[in-house]
Order: sequence, then C-alpha cells, then structure tokens
Amino acid sequence: MARLWPFLALLALALLLPLTGNEYWALIATRACIYWVLVAGLNLIVGFAGQLAIGYVALLAIGAYTASVFTAGTVMEPLPAFVALGIAAAAGAVAGVVVGLPALRLRTFYFAMTTLGFATIVTQITLAWQDVTGGGIGIPGPALPAPMDTAWGFYYFCLALAVVCTWATANLARSRFGRALVAIRDSEVAAEASGIAKPRLLVMIFLFAGALAAFAGGLFATLQTYITPDAFTFDLSLLFFIAILIGGRGSILGPLLGTILLTLLPEVAAPLAAWSTFLYAALLLVIVLAMPGGIAALIDRSSRRPLPEDRTIRPRAEALATLIGERGERAVLSLRGIVLAFGGVRAIDGLDLDLRQGEVHGLIGPNGSGKTTTLNVISGYYRPQAGSMAIGTAELPVGQPEGRAGRGIARTFQTPRMIGEATVLENVMIGATIEGRAGFLEAMLSLPRQRAEERVMAERARLALEAVGLAGLAGVRADRLQHSELRFMEIARALMLRPEFLMLDEPAAGLSVEEIKRLGALIRAVSRRGVGVLLVEHHADLIFDICDQVTVLNLGRVLAAGTPAEIRVHKEVVSAYLGA
Ligand code: ADP
Ligand code: MG
Repeated sequence: MARLWPFLALLALALLLPLTGNEYWALIATRACIYWVLVAGLNLIVGFAGQLAIGYVALLAIGAYTASVFTAGTVMEPLPAFVALGIAAAAGAVAGVVVGLPALRLRTFYFAMTTLGFATIVTQITLAWQDVTGGGIGIPGPALPAPMDTAWGFYYFCLALAVVCTWATANLARSRFGRALVAIRDSEVAAEASGIAKPRLLVMIFLFAGALAAFAGGLFATLQTYITPDAFTFDLSLLFFIAILIGGRGSILGPLLGTILLTLLPEVAAPLAAWSTFLYAALLLVIVLAMPGGIAALIDRSSRRPLPEDRTIRPRAEALATLIGERGERAVLSLRGIVLAFGGVRAIDGLDLDLRQGEVHGLIGPNGSGKTTTLNVISGYYRPQAGSMAIGTAELPVGQPEGRAGRGIARTFQTPRMIGEATVLENVMIGATIEGRAGFLEAMLSLPRQRAEERVMAERARLALEAVGLAGLAGVRADRLQHSELRFMEIARALMLRPEFLMLDEPAAGLSVEEIKRLGALIRAVSRRGVGVLLVEHHADLIFDICDQVTVLNLGRVLAAGTPAEIRVHKEVVSAYLGA
C-alpha cells in the first residue's frame, strides 16, 4: 500500500489538471502520457533487462507512420483510426523483435549502436518512400472519433492508457518475469543456473515494448495532427532513454517521474529549447555523478532502514522437510572420461566421477587443479572435448546451462552471484523461476493463478531462508549483506529448485569457524533428504567431517578417490596436498 500512494497522488494531479481549463497544459500532459506509454515498455528493456536500446524513436516513427498511412488511405481505402492503431501496434511488435535480436549476440555498446542505426534507417525510409509516407512533406495523423476529438477528451484517453501501462508493467516487474529480467541484467550466469532462458524472455519483452512504442507512435501522430520525418529526432530518442536513467533502473515510479520531468523541462525552460541536447547531457552527467541510483534511489527508504542487531546465521534443518521433501529412488550423476583443455592447458584430463544421491561427495585439490572447471562442465557452462555425462541412464547433454535446472541440478558459485538491488527474498525466489506456470499475459494482468503462484513462491522462499538461517533478512537489499550471508543466500536460492543434485563451490570460503560448523550440519541435512551434494572445498576439516566420498584432483586428474578415512592416510595426497 505504501508503494501505491505516489502513483495515486500523481493520478489525482492528472485528474485535476482539466480544472485549469488551459488547453496548452492539456497538450503537454497528453504528450507526457504518450511518451510514458513508450517509456513504460522500454523501461523493461533498459531499466530491468539492462539492454541499452537508445534508438527507440524508430519504433515511435514506425507506429506513427503505420497508423497515419492506414487512416490517410495512401495505400488502400482509409481504415478507422482504432483499426489503424491496432495495425501499428502489431507492426511495432515485429519491429521491436527485429531491433532487439542483436541484443542476444552483441554486448551493450554494440547493441546500442545497432538500435541507433535502425533509427537512421527508419528516418531515411520515411523520407524516400514518398507516395506512401508523403516524404518530406509529411502526412496527416489519425483523427480519433468523439469524445476523443477534443483536447481534454484525447487527454483522458491517453491518461487512461498511461495508467494501464503503469499497472501492467508494475505487475510484470513484481512477477517471476520481472525478477528474471533483473537477474539477466545483474548476473547472467546465476540466471542461467536457475533455468532462465535469456533469448525467450528478451524476445517476449521486445514484442511487448515494440507494440507499446508503436501504439504510442500512433497517438503521437494524432496529437501532432500532421507528421513529417523531422518530428522523430535523435533528441526524442535521448529523452526516452534518459528518462529511464534518471528515474533509476529496476523501478517503475522513477522512470515515470523522469518522463514527466523531461517532458516539462523544455516547456518551463522554453528559451533553452535549442539547448535541449546539451541540457540532457548535463542532466545525465549530474545524475551519474551525484545519484547513480536515480530518482528511485532517492525515494527508496527501505535501503536505509537499519538492519537487525543480531545477525548470527542459524540454519534450521527442520525446514528442509517441507522445503525439498524426500527423494524415493536414488540416482547417480556420472562423469566418464571428461577432457577439457583451454589452449594448451588440460584443465580436466580424463575425469571419472560418480555423484550419488543422498551422499556428500568432496572434491578437493590444490588451486588450479580443475575443481571449478568440473562444476562448470556439469552445469553446462563449458563443453568438454571428450567424455560423457549421465544421470542414471539418461544422458546429460554438454552445454545448455539453462537446461540444468530442469534436470534437477542446482549450484552455487565460488564468488557469490546475486542481484544487489533486489531483496534477499527476491534473490531466493529466482531459484524457483522454472516452476512458474502462469504465462506472460497472466503476470501482466495479475490474474488469480499468477497471484496464487506468487504467494506460494514467496512462502517457499521464506522457508528456504529459514532453513539456511537468514529469515530475519528477507526484506533487505542483497547488496547490504555480508559475504558469509551471501554464501548462505546462494544456498537458499539453489534449494528453491528442490534439487536432485546440489553443487557447492567453496561455500566455506570467508566463513568463521562457527559458521563453517553450521554450514556442515546444513549440508549433511540436505544430503539426508536424498540430495546428491558435490562439495568443492579447501577446509580439510569440513571435508573429512561431512563427506561420504572424496575425490582428490591434481592437474585435472584424479589423484585419489575413496572414503575420508582412506584419503586421510593416502600417501600421495598427504604429501602433495594435505602437507601434514
Ligand atoms: P580450481 O577451481 O581447482 O582452483 P579451476 O577449475 O578454476 O581450478 O582451473 C583449472 C585450470 O584451468 C587452471 O589452470 C585455470 O587457469 C584453467 N582455466 C579455468 N578456467 C579457464 C578459462 N575460462 N580459460 C582458460 N583457462 C581456464
Ligand atoms: Mg575454483
């Protein structure tokens, strides 16, 4: 509820605006609403998924021209305005995917350049394709029927759309889709390990944002009443992009305020209009330097709330029973003859390994002996040059990291991977993304199945946090956690999957003696529920205390394998590694 009041206050202001009776204000406010329809969608791409799409004016232009061309009748009999707007949205969805596709392959700045290139192409086409677009002379925009044919009528219509866009994108942001987008932005590997497929998710967002942007384009043409190619300037593209940056990434309210601010700015500073590019640049610089979190960080008080005094991590193994249940038949994850070389270095050189469910399997060895590489092969990040993997009799394909969660394989990372700006609870909920059944539309409209699912997921995330001993920190932003807490948070995220196999990469690194003891007990408790745990560790005590099996690696080969008792007295291991 507390989150709602700024939106309600804005809405109240917007509804009272017609009392001014000033049609000039109607024009400005309508423009802000239209821009927001575009920015609301773009925000999911830029602010949530972290993709630098700067040329979005292209989609505004595509929408504006599509709607105008179909109502002006330059290619066929004129269509009703709303039909034309619908066609514009469909064209925008397609164009959105076309502009977006390079993001699946290119890194940030290269992608940004392609979106700019696209914007240039669109402008050139509108100029050159004269008999359809009117070329440099332009074309009249669609005229909406009554009661939208007056300044205030059209304003109310655009305001209603802006409200719907705010509501829908806020719903998405709070759903597993929104969390997955932020996960892709801040920690792609963690997202993949949780089974999030980046291409599918991004294509969905590009479709949605493209449709919104083009629809906004159609409205823009209506507002302008007449459009020419020079209405779609690079400045406008910058405005959309910067509205999101000054608003703050991962927020809905921030970019909304940013859009309003940037729409008003040239009006209140009319003499400065010629300087607008310069103004944007200066504003951007101030934001980046003075408040990197944008408006959203300024108004977010939860990130400054004091943390609980007692932050001792006390795992509660009893919570595991409901959290991950019990496994019936026990399977084996087996590696046979795995070879992986980086250039000349054989990081893994013919590795055989059997990881049984219900057991803790220690993987030890000096630095650089191939432990992390082994985990990366099992979780699909690296493709071995030889060898095979299987769970029971089912072969485990090489590569495909985002498919591992579906096979019941969860993991943590040597350096904890987290989403700093999300709460601990949200970070943990990422782990259950693949369990979601409610689709994109259901999430957007916050339909009953979506809401029920969300409740169950949050409930289970709380249980997972209780199991690892972090229940008191559920609502805290993850970037405020200490290193040891992050390690336990990652385990909670992995447990959300109800994994068959759990791989932990040096979970005890950086933990206190007391914390290591509790971690050991937690890992044992997890394995007792039938999970196969692969534990990479340097702390020999922990390994010998809790492991059923130990494999010692050296230069990518198995130096020794057996029970802790056998390994402890193994001559070569003692001389090469344990050094006692
Ligand atoms: P450990 O986790 O046992 O300390 P790693 O599995 O990280 O060791 O590394 C094993 C060997 O493979 C090291 O020699 C390391 O330098 C090399 N290696 C690991 N990952 C890569 C990579 N992505 N590119 C090149 N060499 C790598
Ligand atoms: Mg390592």
